[in-house]
Amino acid sequence: MNPLNPLISVVAPIYNEGPGVDRFVRRLGEVLDGFRYELVLVDDGSADDSWDRIVGHSRTDDRVRGIQLSRNFGKEPAVLAGLEHAAGDAVVVIDSDLQHPPSAIPAMVRRWQAGAHVVEAVKRNRTGQGVIGRLGGKLFNKAFTGLTKVDLVDATDFRLLGRPALDALLRMPEHSSFFRGTSSWIGFRRETVEVDIDHREGGASRWTFRSLFRLAVNGLTSFTSAPLHLVTLVGLAFAGFAVVLGTQTLIRWLRGGSVAGFPTVILLLLVLGTFILLGLGVIGEYLARIHEEVRGRPRYLVQEKAESARTPVPASRRADHS
Ligand code: UDP
Ligand code: MG
Repeated sequence: MNPLNPLISVVAPIYNEGPGVDRFVRRLGEVLDGFRYELVLVDDGSADDSWDRIVGHSRTDDRVRGIQLSRNFGKEPAVLAGLEHAAGDAVVVIDSDLQHPPSAIPAMVRRWQAGAHVVEAVKRNRTGQGVIGRLGGKLFNKAFTGLTKVDLVDATDFRLLGRPALDALLRMPEHSSFFRGTSSWIGFRRETVEVDIDHREGGASRWTFRSLFRLAVNGLTSFTSAPLHLVTLVGLAFAGFAVVLGTQTLIRWLRGGSVAGFPTVILLLLVLGTFILLGLGVIGEYLARIHEEVRGRPRYLVQEKAESARTPVPASRRADHS
Protein backbone atom coordinates (compact mmCIF):
# COMPACT_ATOMS: atom_id res chain seq x y z
CA MET A 1 0.00 0.00 0.00
CA ASN A 2 1.08 3.49 -0.68
CA PRO A 3 0.82 5.12 2.74
CA LEU A 4 0.73 8.62 1.37
CA ASN A 5 -1.98 8.01 -1.14
CA PRO A 6 -3.99 4.93 -0.17
CA LEU A 7 -6.85 3.70 -2.29
CA ILE A 8 -10.19 3.76 -0.50
CA SER A 9 -12.86 1.39 -1.82
CA VAL A 10 -16.45 2.23 -1.05
CA VAL A 11 -18.75 -0.78 -1.36
CA ALA A 12 -22.48 -0.16 -1.60
CA PRO A 13 -25.27 -2.67 -2.25
CA ILE A 14 -28.01 -1.34 -4.49
CA TYR A 15 -31.49 -2.74 -4.82
CA ASN A 16 -34.10 -0.80 -6.75
CA GLU A 17 -32.72 2.56 -5.70
CA GLY A 18 -33.46 4.22 -9.08
CA PRO A 19 -32.58 7.93 -8.95
CA GLY A 20 -31.02 7.22 -5.56
CA VAL A 21 -28.03 5.83 -7.43
CA ASP A 22 -27.24 9.21 -8.99
CA ARG A 23 -27.76 10.93 -5.67
CA PHE A 24 -25.41 8.49 -3.99
CA VAL A 25 -22.63 8.75 -6.57
CA ARG A 26 -22.83 12.54 -6.55
CA ARG A 27 -22.75 12.72 -2.76
CA LEU A 28 -19.77 10.40 -2.50
CA GLY A 29 -17.92 12.36 -5.14
CA GLU A 30 -18.37 15.47 -3.00
CA VAL A 31 -17.34 13.83 0.24
CA LEU A 32 -14.36 11.93 -1.12
CA ASP A 33 -13.00 14.79 -3.16
CA GLY A 34 -9.26 14.76 -2.54
CA PHE A 35 -9.07 11.04 -1.75
CA ARG A 36 -7.96 8.35 -4.16
CA TYR A 37 -11.04 6.18 -4.19
CA GLU A 38 -13.17 3.74 -6.11
CA LEU A 39 -16.88 3.09 -5.82
CA VAL A 40 -17.89 -0.55 -6.04
CA LEU A 41 -21.61 -0.52 -6.70
CA VAL A 42 -23.26 -3.92 -6.46
CA ASP A 43 -26.60 -4.19 -8.17
CA ASP A 44 -28.46 -6.86 -6.24
CA GLY A 45 -30.75 -7.86 -9.10
CA SER A 46 -32.72 -4.62 -9.20
CA ALA A 47 -35.86 -4.64 -11.28
CA ASP A 48 -35.67 -0.94 -12.10
CA ASP A 49 -33.08 1.11 -13.99
CA SER A 50 -30.47 1.02 -11.20
CA TRP A 51 -28.04 -1.04 -13.30
CA ASP A 52 -28.29 1.28 -16.31
CA ARG A 53 -27.51 4.17 -14.04
CA ILE A 54 -24.49 2.36 -12.60
CA VAL A 55 -23.22 1.56 -16.10
CA GLY A 56 -23.73 5.19 -17.05
CA HIS A 57 -21.63 6.38 -14.12
CA SER A 58 -18.90 3.83 -14.78
CA ARG A 59 -18.63 5.14 -18.36
CA THR A 60 -18.14 8.75 -17.36
CA ASP A 61 -16.09 8.15 -14.21
CA ASP A 62 -13.46 5.45 -14.10
CA ARG A 63 -13.56 5.42 -10.32
CA VAL A 64 -17.00 3.88 -10.47
CA ARG A 65 -17.25 0.13 -10.95
CA GLY A 66 -20.40 -1.90 -11.17
CA ILE A 67 -21.14 -5.51 -10.43
CA GLN A 68 -24.51 -6.93 -11.33
CA LEU A 69 -25.66 -10.04 -9.55
CA SER A 70 -27.72 -12.50 -11.54
CA ARG A 71 -30.76 -12.02 -9.31
CA ASN A 72 -31.71 -10.57 -5.95
CA PHE A 73 -29.53 -12.38 -3.45
CA GLY A 74 -30.11 -10.05 -0.52
CA LYS A 75 -27.99 -7.39 1.09
CA GLU A 76 -25.46 -9.68 2.78
CA PRO A 77 -24.36 -11.53 -0.37
CA ALA A 78 -24.34 -8.22 -2.25
CA VAL A 79 -21.98 -6.69 0.30
CA LEU A 80 -19.82 -9.78 0.10
CA ALA A 81 -19.63 -9.51 -3.67
CA GLY A 82 -18.52 -5.92 -3.32
CA LEU A 83 -15.90 -6.79 -0.72
CA GLU A 84 -14.45 -9.53 -2.87
CA HIS A 85 -14.14 -7.18 -5.80
CA ALA A 86 -12.80 -4.20 -3.90
CA ALA A 87 -9.22 -3.25 -4.67
CA GLY A 88 -8.60 -0.68 -1.96
CA ASP A 89 -6.16 -0.55 0.93
CA ALA A 90 -9.22 0.12 3.04
CA VAL A 91 -12.84 -0.68 2.29
CA VAL A 92 -15.87 1.21 3.50
CA VAL A 93 -19.24 -0.56 3.43
CA ILE A 94 -22.16 1.82 3.28
CA ASP A 95 -25.87 1.70 2.39
CA SER A 96 -26.69 3.31 -0.91
CA ASP A 97 -29.86 4.96 0.36
CA LEU A 98 -27.83 7.70 2.10
CA GLN A 99 -29.09 6.66 5.52
CA HIS A 100 -25.48 6.18 6.49
CA PRO A 101 -24.01 9.67 6.25
CA PRO A 102 -21.13 9.59 3.74
CA SER A 103 -19.74 12.69 5.46
CA ALA A 104 -18.42 10.38 8.19
CA ILE A 105 -16.08 8.60 5.78
CA PRO A 106 -13.15 11.06 5.99
CA ALA A 107 -13.15 10.73 9.78
CA MET A 108 -13.20 6.94 9.48
CA VAL A 109 -10.30 7.03 7.05
CA ARG A 110 -8.34 9.25 9.43
CA ARG A 111 -8.91 6.76 12.27
CA TRP A 112 -7.68 4.01 10.00
CA GLN A 113 -4.59 5.98 9.05
CA ALA A 114 -3.97 6.54 12.74
CA GLY A 115 -3.74 2.79 13.24
CA ALA A 116 -7.20 1.28 13.57
CA HIS A 117 -7.97 -1.77 11.47
CA VAL A 118 -11.73 -1.67 11.80
CA VAL A 119 -13.67 1.55 12.21
CA GLU A 120 -17.34 1.15 13.01
CA ALA A 121 -19.94 3.83 12.77
CA VAL A 122 -22.29 3.58 15.73
CA LYS A 123 -25.69 5.19 15.91
CA ARG A 124 -26.13 8.26 17.96
CA ASN A 125 -29.84 8.19 17.20
CA ARG A 126 -32.26 6.01 15.35
CA THR A 127 -34.40 8.19 13.20
CA GLY A 128 -36.60 6.87 10.47
CA GLN A 129 -37.76 3.90 12.45
CA GLY A 130 -41.04 3.27 14.16
CA VAL A 131 -41.31 2.56 17.85
CA ILE A 132 -41.76 -1.14 17.18
CA GLY A 133 -38.76 -1.26 14.89
CA ARG A 134 -36.66 0.59 17.43
CA LEU A 135 -37.77 -1.62 20.28
CA GLY A 136 -37.35 -4.74 18.18
CA GLY A 137 -33.86 -3.66 17.16
CA LYS A 138 -32.91 -2.94 20.76
CA LEU A 139 -34.25 -6.25 22.04
CA PHE A 140 -32.62 -8.23 19.27
CA ASN A 141 -29.29 -6.50 19.80
CA LYS A 142 -29.39 -7.11 23.54
CA ALA A 143 -30.30 -10.77 23.18
CA PHE A 144 -27.84 -11.25 20.39
CA THR A 145 -24.97 -9.66 22.24
CA GLY A 146 -25.77 -11.68 25.33
CA LEU A 147 -25.86 -14.96 23.46
CA THR A 148 -23.07 -14.55 21.00
CA LYS A 149 -20.57 -12.23 22.67
CA VAL A 150 -20.52 -10.35 19.39
CA ASP A 151 -21.23 -6.76 20.23
CA LEU A 152 -23.98 -5.48 18.04
CA VAL A 153 -25.60 -2.90 20.25
CA ASP A 154 -26.20 0.20 18.18
CA ALA A 155 -23.84 -1.13 15.56
CA THR A 156 -24.44 -0.53 11.88
CA ASP A 157 -23.22 -2.13 8.70
CA PHE A 158 -21.48 1.14 8.02
CA ARG A 159 -17.84 0.34 8.68
CA LEU A 160 -14.34 0.58 7.37
CA LEU A 161 -12.03 -2.41 7.17
CA GLY A 162 -8.32 -2.20 6.53
CA ARG A 163 -6.85 -4.68 4.05
CA PRO A 164 -5.64 -7.25 6.65
CA ALA A 165 -9.04 -7.22 8.38
CA LEU A 166 -10.82 -7.51 5.05
CA ASP A 167 -8.69 -10.45 3.97
CA ALA A 168 -9.42 -12.13 7.28
CA LEU A 169 -13.14 -11.57 6.78
CA LEU A 170 -13.03 -12.97 3.26
CA ARG A 171 -11.48 -16.14 4.54
CA MET A 172 -14.70 -17.03 6.32
CA PRO A 173 -16.41 -19.68 4.24
CA GLU A 174 -19.92 -19.38 5.68
CA HIS A 175 -22.71 -19.49 3.20
CA SER A 176 -25.07 -17.28 5.12
CA SER A 177 -22.65 -14.58 6.06
CA PHE A 178 -23.74 -11.92 8.48
CA PHE A 179 -21.47 -8.95 7.90
CA ARG A 180 -22.15 -7.20 11.15
CA GLY A 181 -21.32 -10.34 13.10
CA THR A 182 -18.38 -11.62 11.10
CA SER A 183 -16.71 -8.23 10.97
CA SER A 184 -16.87 -8.15 14.78
CA TRP A 185 -15.80 -11.76 15.19
CA ILE A 186 -12.50 -11.21 13.39
CA GLY A 187 -11.29 -8.87 16.12
CA PHE A 188 -8.48 -6.51 15.05
CA ARG A 189 -7.79 -3.11 16.52
CA ARG A 190 -11.16 -1.37 16.47
CA GLU A 191 -12.44 2.12 16.86
CA THR A 192 -15.82 3.71 16.56
CA VAL A 193 -17.17 6.96 15.25
CA GLU A 194 -20.60 8.26 16.13
CA VAL A 195 -22.98 9.08 13.33
CA ASP A 196 -26.56 10.22 12.97
CA ILE A 197 -28.53 7.78 10.88
CA ASP A 198 -30.49 9.88 8.41
CA HIS A 199 -33.97 9.45 7.14
CA ARG A 200 -34.28 7.38 4.02
CA GLU A 201 -34.12 9.52 0.90
CA GLY A 202 -36.56 8.16 -1.62
CA GLY A 203 -38.13 4.72 -1.76
CA ALA A 204 -39.07 2.57 1.18
CA SER A 205 -37.06 0.23 3.35
CA ARG A 206 -36.59 -3.16 1.74
CA TRP A 207 -36.91 -4.97 5.02
CA THR A 208 -40.04 -6.88 5.70
CA PHE A 209 -40.83 -8.50 9.00
CA ARG A 210 -40.04 -11.82 7.40
CA SER A 211 -36.61 -10.80 6.14
CA LEU A 212 -35.76 -9.28 9.52
CA PHE A 213 -36.80 -12.49 11.22
CA ARG A 214 -34.60 -14.45 8.81
CA LEU A 215 -31.71 -12.14 9.55
CA ALA A 216 -32.16 -12.60 13.27
CA VAL A 217 -32.33 -16.38 13.02
CA ASN A 218 -29.37 -16.37 10.66
CA GLY A 219 -27.31 -14.21 12.96
CA LEU A 220 -28.11 -16.34 15.96
CA THR A 221 -27.55 -19.72 14.38
CA SER A 222 -24.26 -18.68 12.84
CA PHE A 223 -22.83 -17.33 16.05
CA THR A 224 -24.12 -19.44 18.87
CA SER A 225 -25.49 -22.85 19.65
CA ALA A 226 -27.13 -21.52 22.81
CA PRO A 227 -30.69 -22.25 21.60
CA LEU A 228 -29.75 -25.92 21.26
CA HIS A 229 -28.45 -25.97 24.81
CA LEU A 230 -31.60 -24.23 25.92
CA VAL A 231 -33.65 -27.07 24.49
CA THR A 232 -31.57 -29.50 26.53
CA LEU A 233 -31.93 -27.41 29.67
CA VAL A 234 -35.69 -27.11 29.41
CA GLY A 235 -35.82 -30.82 28.70
CA LEU A 236 -33.93 -31.48 31.92
CA ALA A 237 -36.25 -29.21 33.87
CA PHE A 238 -39.22 -31.12 32.52
CA ALA A 239 -37.55 -34.38 33.47
CA GLY A 240 -37.28 -33.22 37.09
CA PHE A 241 -40.87 -32.12 37.02
CA ALA A 242 -41.88 -35.48 35.57
CA VAL A 243 -40.19 -37.38 38.38
CA VAL A 244 -42.00 -35.38 41.07
CA LEU A 245 -45.38 -35.56 39.38
CA GLY A 246 -44.90 -39.20 38.47
CA THR A 247 -44.10 -40.19 42.04
CA GLN A 248 -47.08 -38.29 43.36
CA THR A 249 -49.40 -39.94 40.83
CA LEU A 250 -48.01 -43.36 41.62
CA ILE A 251 -48.47 -42.93 45.35
CA ARG A 252 -52.04 -41.73 44.85
CA TRP A 253 -52.77 -44.69 42.63
CA LEU A 254 -51.35 -47.17 45.15
CA ARG A 255 -53.46 -45.60 47.86
CA GLY A 256 -56.46 -45.98 45.61
CA GLY A 257 -57.04 -42.24 45.49
CA SER A 258 -59.28 -40.50 43.00
CA VAL A 259 -58.40 -39.85 39.37
CA ALA A 260 -59.09 -36.14 39.49
CA GLY A 261 -56.79 -33.76 37.68
CA PHE A 262 -58.10 -33.64 34.16
CA PRO A 263 -56.99 -29.98 33.84
CA THR A 264 -53.49 -31.04 34.82
CA VAL A 265 -53.39 -33.50 31.96
CA ILE A 266 -54.54 -30.92 29.46
CA LEU A 267 -52.05 -28.35 30.71
CA LEU A 268 -49.22 -30.83 30.61
CA LEU A 269 -50.13 -31.85 27.10
CA LEU A 270 -50.21 -28.25 25.93
CA VAL A 271 -46.96 -27.26 27.57
CA LEU A 272 -45.10 -30.35 26.51
CA GLY A 273 -46.49 -30.26 22.99
CA THR A 274 -45.48 -26.65 22.57
CA PHE A 275 -42.06 -27.27 23.87
CA ILE A 276 -41.45 -30.33 21.76
CA LEU A 277 -42.47 -28.46 18.62
CA LEU A 278 -40.32 -25.46 19.52
CA GLY A 279 -37.40 -27.73 20.26
CA LEU A 280 -37.83 -29.45 16.92
CA GLY A 281 -37.97 -26.05 15.26
CA VAL A 282 -34.72 -24.95 16.86
CA ILE A 283 -33.01 -28.15 15.81
CA GLY A 284 -34.48 -27.69 12.36
CA GLU A 285 -32.97 -24.23 12.05
CA TYR A 286 -29.52 -25.59 12.73
CA LEU A 287 -30.12 -28.52 10.44
CA ALA A 288 -31.16 -26.13 7.69
CA ARG A 289 -27.93 -24.21 8.15
CA ILE A 290 -25.89 -27.38 7.97
CA HIS A 291 -27.76 -28.34 4.84
CA GLU A 292 -27.08 -24.94 3.33
CA GLU A 293 -23.39 -25.07 4.14
CA VAL A 294 -22.98 -28.65 2.98
CA ARG A 295 -24.48 -27.92 -0.42
CA GLY A 296 -21.72 -25.38 -0.82
CA ARG A 297 -23.42 -23.33 -3.49
CA PRO A 298 -21.83 -20.04 -4.50
CA ARG A 299 -22.97 -17.21 -2.31
CA TYR A 300 -23.76 -14.98 -5.23
CA LEU A 301 -23.45 -15.03 -8.99
CA VAL A 302 -22.17 -12.19 -11.12
CA GLN A 303 -24.01 -11.54 -14.32
CA GLU A 304 -22.21 -8.52 -15.65
CA LYS A 305 -19.50 -6.10 -14.68
CA ALA A 306 -19.04 -2.49 -15.59
CA GLU A 307 -15.56 -1.19 -15.08
CA SER A 308 -13.15 0.80 -17.11
CA ALA A 309 -9.87 -0.81 -18.20
CA ARG A 310 -7.91 1.63 -16.07
CA THR A 311 -9.36 0.39 -12.82
CA PRO A 312 -6.62 -1.06 -10.60
CA VAL A 313 -6.74 -4.75 -9.82
CA PRO A 314 -5.88 -5.77 -6.27
CA ALA A 315 -2.86 -7.99 -5.76
CA SER A 316 -4.78 -10.11 -3.31
CA ARG A 317 -7.89 -10.34 -5.45
CA ARG A 318 -9.08 -13.86 -5.84
CA ALA A 319 -9.34 -15.43 -9.26
CA ASP A 320 -13.07 -15.50 -8.82
CA HIS A 321 -15.70 -15.29 -6.17
CA SER A 322 -16.77 -18.18 -4.04
N1 UDP B 1 -30.33 -3.91 -0.37
C1 UDP B 1 -29.81 -4.87 -1.21
N2 UDP B 1 -30.53 -6.02 -1.44
C2 UDP B 1 -31.72 -6.26 -0.83
C3 UDP B 1 -32.22 -5.28 0.05
C4 UDP B 1 -31.50 -4.12 0.25
O1 UDP B 1 -28.73 -4.70 -1.77
O2 UDP B 1 -32.32 -7.30 -1.07
C5 UDP B 1 -29.56 -2.65 -0.15
C6 UDP B 1 -30.34 -1.37 -0.36
O3 UDP B 1 -30.24 -0.92 -1.68
C7 UDP B 1 -29.66 -0.42 0.60
C8 UDP B 1 -29.21 -1.31 1.72
O4 UDP B 1 -29.19 -2.64 1.20
O5 UDP B 1 -28.52 0.18 0.02
C9 UDP B 1 -30.11 -1.22 2.94
O6 UDP B 1 -31.43 -1.48 2.56
P1 UDP B 1 -32.66 -0.77 3.25
O7 UDP B 1 -32.48 0.71 3.23
O8 UDP B 1 -33.87 -1.30 2.59
O9 UDP B 1 -32.55 -1.31 4.73
P2 UDP B 1 -32.61 -0.46 6.09
O10 UDP B 1 -31.91 0.83 5.88
O11 UDP B 1 -34.04 -0.29 6.38
O12 UDP B 1 -31.90 -1.34 7.08
MG1 MG C 1 -31.89 2.03 4.55
